[in-house]
Amino acid sequence: MPEPTATHARVLILGTGFAGLGMATNLKRAGQDDFLVLERGAAVGGTWRDNTYPGCACDVPSLLYSFSFAQNPEWSDTFSPQPEIWDYLKDVASKEGILPHCRFDTVVEEARWDDAEQRWHVRTSQGTYTAEVVVSGVGGLSEPKVPDVPGIEDFEGTTFHSARWDHEHQLAGERVAVIGTGASAIQFVPEIQPEVGHLTLFQRTPPWIMERRSRPFKPVERFLFRHVPGAQRLARASIYWARELSVFGFAKNPKILKRAERFARAHLHGQVQDPELRRKLTPTYTMGCKRILLSNDYYPALTQPNVTVETAGIAEVRAHSIVTTDGTEHPVDTIIFGTGFQATEMPAAQVIYGADGVRLADQWDATSVSAFLGTSVHGFPNLFFIVGPNTGLGHTSMVFMIESQVAYIRQALDAMAERGTPVLDVKPEVEAAYNDGVQEQLAPTVWNTGGCSSWYLDRQGRNTLLWPTFTFVFRKRTSRFDPEHYRVVAAAPLGADAARVPATAAD
Ligand SMILES: Cc1cc2nc3c(=O)[nH]c(=O)nc-3n(C[C@H](O)[C@H](O)[C@H](O)COP(=O)(O)OP(=O)(O)OC[C@H]3O[C@@H](n4cnc5c(N)ncnc54)[C@H](O)[C@@H]3O)c2cc1C
Repeated sequence: MPEPTATHARVLILGTGFAGLGMATNLKRAGQDDFLVLERGAAVGGTWRDNTYPGCACDVPSLLYSFSFAQNPEWSDTFSPQPEIWDYLKDVASKEGILPHCRFDTVVEEARWDDAEQRWHVRTSQGTYTAEVVVSGVGGLSEPKVPDVPGIEDFEGTTFHSARWDHEHQLAGERVAVIGTGASAIQFVPEIQPEVGHLTLFQRTPPWIMERRSRPFKPVERFLFRHVPGAQRLARASIYWARELSVFGFAKNPKILKRAERFARAHLHGQVQDPELRRKLTPTYTMGCKRILLSNDYYPALTQPNVTVETAGIAEVRAHSIVTTDGTEHPVDTIIFGTGFQATEMPAAQVIYGADGVRLADQWDATSVSAFLGTSVHGFPNLFFIVGPNTGLGHTSMVFMIESQVAYIRQALDAMAERGTPVLDVKPEVEAAYNDGVQEQLAPTVWNTGGCSSWYLDRQGRNTLLWPTFTFVFRKRTSRFDPEHYRVVAAAPLGADAARVPATAAD
């Protein structure tokens, strides 16, 4: 008998964030056990395992930013802090029986479709796996982005990215440079400002910031969520619909955002008295073009005597300083990158090879980044993305999109099973027509026309990240799997090189 060279599962799920866990739970609840979840980290949790910076919390209310099938009456706050969200995800994984399916510390290095065998070969840091289907949940915001600053390699102090916070390193009394003013920076700057000696914030573009209406849940609310059927669902639904209303401003008529802009300006004026600092912090682009941020303590932190807001660009980094384009040298002990993630680059595309050995990144370079329903790419059979192209949101919970895609993929898997596990490959013309429609809808939105350069846009200025309209439209479009959208090929028998292991067996 030949030696087994690969571990086989019907479905391989990549990643254990909301996406991977959502998919795994859906399969598990349907009694489908033949799946494995590959995760490079040592625990489940994705975003909420990796982002441990001080002050990290969600910016969509927890009642909505959670699974619909695992609502949690115990949230401590309307916007929960990171440790609680991570605990929640660990709890879901444990209660739903997902952990025995997980293979941790397993970095997916390459995924290659084999046309002859009609299956995926997935090479990892822990050996090779094969699968009839791969579901990628590797995250849109999971690879930190560090700008290529001249001289950074000569810096002799400490550097780290906010998504890889160095908790061993003591910032007390240090001269700290924070580069970036996005969603993470505005959360950790107020937390570290009181302890550092001096904080220099290097700002390229100021964000629009609104008041954060965050508060602890009252015991009576938690009691109601626990004991009154439907109470939590009702609260969740009201948040959902309030957030959907904002789509009128983002996507239909950006003039509506003018009113919100007035609130944001009032927020800034109320918290920053110094006219020069206020000028630096006032955005010059239409609100909504970049993600609108929520904070009550970011502006007050910037008014403190140990903080400088630097708007000149960074020219170079030296051994113990950062020099800006106006020639000023800022002495620095530690640099913290709050510079976001490789979002438009979609790093996974570099290591996925479809039919005919085509690399996904090359296919997307030649045409454009696109996927039918953000899920299926032609030439990449039996591969489904969760949080793929144009599924990102600027206004509400990503979990809503994730659950829509999970339900769609489940239907695809069921359709395959009914037909004896055939191969599904989305038709190129279906994908192209879908993508043209999405881009057409995006054209007039504030994300495309708001006059900013945001991380929503790729190098060509194309918005390949955001869903263009209401999320219930996405839910409707993904609610029914139509095999007519796919090229369907009959399946080849299982080859001898793959060892079937019981997927539920823990390592
Ligand atoms: C700080 C922060 C705050 C956020 N707040 C909100 C919010 O309030 N509301 C909202 O809607 N969204 C928010 N987001 C967006 C958030 O990323 C999504 O809501 C959601 O968590 C994405 O889940 P995911 O499972 O798709 O990806 P992730 O949570 O990123 O999970 C991806 C998983 O894949 C694993 N993985 C990646 N590559 C490999 C590989 N090669 N091999 C093996 N495993 C791999 C990673 O280790 C990770 O565990 C926030 C993001 C950040 C960074």
